[in-house]
Amino acid sequence: MSATSSVAAKPGSKATEINPYEAMLARFHAAADLLELDKGARAVLTTPERELKVAVPVRRDDGSIEVFEGWRVQHNTAMGPAKGGIRYSPEVCVDEVRALAAWMTWKCAVVQVPFGGGKGGVKCDPRAMSQGELERLTRRYTAAIMDIIGPEKDVPAPDMNTNEQTMAWIMDTYSIHARHTVTAVVTGKPAALGGSLGRPAATGRGLLTMVREAAAEVDLDLAKASVVIQGSGNVGGTAAQLLHDIGVKVIGISDIDTGLVNEKGLDVPAVLRHQEKKRTLKGCKAGDVVSNEEILRTPCDILLPCATENQITSKNAGKLRTKIIVEGANGPTTANADRMLDDAGIFVIPDILANAGGVAVSYFEWVQDRHGYFWEEREVNERLELLMRRAFANVLARTKQHRINMRTAAYVEGIDRVARVTTLRGLYP
Ligand code: NAD
Repeated sequence: MSATSSVAAKPGSKATEINPYEAMLARFHAAADLLELDKGARAVLTTPERELKVAVPVRRDDGSIEVFEGWRVQHNTAMGPAKGGIRYSPEVCVDEVRALAAWMTWKCAVVQVPFGGGKGGVKCDPRAMSQGELERLTRRYTAAIMDIIGPEKDVPAPDMNTNEQTMAWIMDTYSIHARHTVTAVVTGKPAALGGSLGRPAATGRGLLTMVREAAAEVDLDLAKASVVIQGSGNVGGTAAQLLHDIGVKVIGISDIDTGLVNEKGLDVPAVLRHQEKKRTLKGCKAGDVVSNEEILRTPCDILLPCATENQITSKNAGKLRTKIIVEGANGPTTANADRMLDDAGIFVIPDILANAGGVAVSYFEWVQDRHGYFWEEREVNERLELLMRRAFANVLARTKQHRINMRTAAYVEGIDRVARVTTLRGLYP
């Protein structure tokens, strides 16, 4: 991989701004320019190795049959088995799954876990489906992608609208076909089935470490800081709870239905109890009701977008009133918004670093399953913190080396590692 040519690093046009794959490519090329990667290396590193599209027929509770579209994309496996979540959402499309798979490749490299990047998705509305329908969907999808997943090939995990139960169904379906129990085929399983202690909270816990590191870097006193969180699911809800537990004031939180703001600080446990009981934040009286757009514009010291892609765009990036952004979601910021956040002096901890706690503990889970020996939660959490702090320090060092922001630095860190391994392995034949 010689340093011969260079592809311009340009943000997406207005038309392509919200295409997550374009967003990934814009950042990739900015980093690849700094690494002086040639055209061939760029082609290898940006082209997904494998994309499987499947039809998932499901019998609905009323007896009718509906066919859903599903995908599994393996972006790059130079470092090890593909690793990445499975998402259920009405908005899933192949470009989204592709982008998410590529982000997993860079993320695993940034935190130095021996995995490549993969992602899966089924286009469905899980909120309009019963538990039985979700189980049938999951099992049929698993059967459809079964040839390309496995502990040595590709290891799925939960993502938006999938959870421990989904992983238990995948593990069971895969194991029945394999004729023996294969715990390491997925991570994010219930602890009773070979899941790791600490995995459900891992992404939120990793965010907590990132919040601490970022605050120290910009000299922000966390005891006096205010935090706003978009998304109150596994990632955002856990981060809210953990921040609240250490005495940080969470003044805003939202879900897909509504947002809540209380400048004196929300009673986070009460908000999360309401959500668990009603499966929505709607009707919660803990704060003033605001829209999802307003939640992002709420003045605060630290903003955690923990919902989905394309929430911070060229339309609203100039209106944010925060000092630090820690990206819990994948792709919450478009490439066009990056420059605007830089101009506003906002310190952004990008997704491929900030939310890597999930894949870090997924790696620990895979290791424990393959050893058949399980660790105490304290050990999981300690190792997670060490790994996240090391990754933060490595990315920060790249910002100083190249005089770039944390996002480009994280891409440089991840892409450099994968490019080096690709060169070492060579091209077959
Ligand atoms: P989740 O389904 O548990 O929660 C998602 C939350 O976002 C919910 O509160 C939902 O109401 C809200 N939301 C969804 N769509 C929204 C929209 N259009 N506008 C506003 N709010 C919306 O999902 P999660 O597992 O917490 O994942 C959230 C994000 O974090 C995703 O981008 C996911 O890829 C990323 N992520 C998750 C993990 C993990 O371990 N679960 C790890 C790394 C990254």
